[in-house]
Amino acid sequence: MAIPQQTQPIAFRIKAPPELDAAVRGTITSMFRSVDFSRGRLIEVSSQDTKAGILTTVKLEGHNPWQHFDPEINRPCYNRHDRKNRVKERVRLGVRTVLGQVFGLSLGPWGILTGVRPTKLVHRLLDRNFSREEIHNLLTDVYCVSEERQQLLFDVVEKQRSFFLPNVNNPVSVYVGIPFCPTRCGYCSFAAYPLQTHGHLVEDFLSALELEIKSVGELLRSQGIRVQSVYLGGGTPTTIKGRALSNLLQLLNQYFDAESCQEYTVEAGRPETLDVDTIAIMKEHGVQRLSINPQTMHDRTLKLIGREHTADQVRRAFELAHSNNFAIINSDLILGLPGENLEDFAESLDQVIKLNPDNITIHSLALKRASHFGKTAAQLELEHELGEQMAELAQKSLEEAGMHPYYLYRQRFILSDLENIGYAKPGAESIYNIQMMEERQTIIGLGGGAITKLVSPDLAVVRHANPKCPATYAHQVCQLIDAKKYQIKQHLSV
Ligand code: SF4
Repeated sequence: MAIPQQTQPIAFRIKAPPELDAAVRGTITSMFRSVDFSRGRLIEVSSQDTKAGILTTVKLEGHNPWQHFDPEINRPCYNRHDRKNRVKERVRLGVRTVLGQVFGLSLGPWGILTGVRPTKLVHRLLDRNFSREEIHNLLTDVYCVSEERQQLLFDVVEKQRSFFLPNVNNPVSVYVGIPFCPTRCGYCSFAAYPLQTHGHLVEDFLSALELEIKSVGELLRSQGIRVQSVYLGGGTPTTIKGRALSNLLQLLNQYFDAESCQEYTVEAGRPETLDVDTIAIMKEHGVQRLSINPQTMHDRTLKLIGREHTADQVRRAFELAHSNNFAIINSDLILGLPGENLEDFAESLDQVIKLNPDNITIHSLALKRASHFGKTAAQLELEHELGEQMAELAQKSLEEAGMHPYYLYRQRFILSDLENIGYAKPGAESIYNIQMMEERQTIIGLGGGAITKLVSPDLAVVRHANPKCPATYAHQVCQLIDAKKYQIKQHLSV
């Protein structure tokens, strides 16, 4: 389903039982960029849960009602919680179907699975011993997911399950957010502050981060918690140079055993930040995996999206990384960048495959509101079919290059209702990406914009976010550390 371009909010009034109101609103806001719920046409939603099954009715003012009867939920494998969820799922299907017909919006390949992590649903069903056939039936009948996306889901979950550990809290993984970048990309919605305007904040930020690493590191050690993977992201961690970078990596080794844990990754996202010294420092401190992210290999597009590097700098960064024998190199590409056609994307893909990375993550352009492009979304042409063609080409080319999909996630306002897919050569899958995305392991987030995810044995997740702004982070770090230590202790004692 393509998100329609809008200059004005679309208006609806909702009449639904209180327990279904959020499902109706959530579905509508996933279909339109801007919605006003205080006026406009009335949508009436009702649901009757009877012994024979669930009857759902959705009616948009001026149109025939949509009705659906679901007896399948009476199977003994379902519990009360499933029944409640099924009511909401049918409501989502009804609202999407009714509004889709009126506004000419097809359901899209993911059907009513609008969440960020569609794989989670399949994992949960597998945990409950649902067979592949039963899951297929549910994905088809309840969630309306296309056969191709179902295949993708099964491929990904199959790869991921061997990475899940019996204890979600030991070992944990550690994420370190460095919220600085050379410039801000037009599509960026992360914690990323340009060095030119915010470089004066780096020193205080790093001092605060040092305090957080030491305090949380000591706490984990005192509780006997081991670390499986350490991931430096942001932002672009390799904007930190020389002695400052060396100190940071030294601290991570000292407090989290980063160099001897199973996986140690640094996002060197911007290739212009990789130089001989930076590479040598990372190598010396045991970093195993690097991300070098071109996003596109076309200089004109790089300029248009606000990146200051060239495709040649990407090639040089790869040469440096390869000649220093980093175990794994990851590379990100974005499909659907402004001004690019299928041939442009195919060229970038081909060039990046030739650079021989071990992982390639294909992102579909998502125009989040926090990004510069998101604020001017109406000016960007999103061509639905083009996005799909690019995704198909990526899948075919990467599989030919010996890579398989191993993690995926979706975002709001994503091009052509697509998804972001991480492909990897066998054995090169990122543990951190899997654990973080599937929320099967506690992640301790440190630094700017980092999110700590405390996962319970029943897979409930409690999130705590650090401030994105480096100045706020540095200013609040002492309170933040106290709160984090308390939250972690409470969580581990449950
Ligand atoms: S390099 Fe990444 S984090 Fe930095 S501005 Fe660009 S998208 Fe944002």
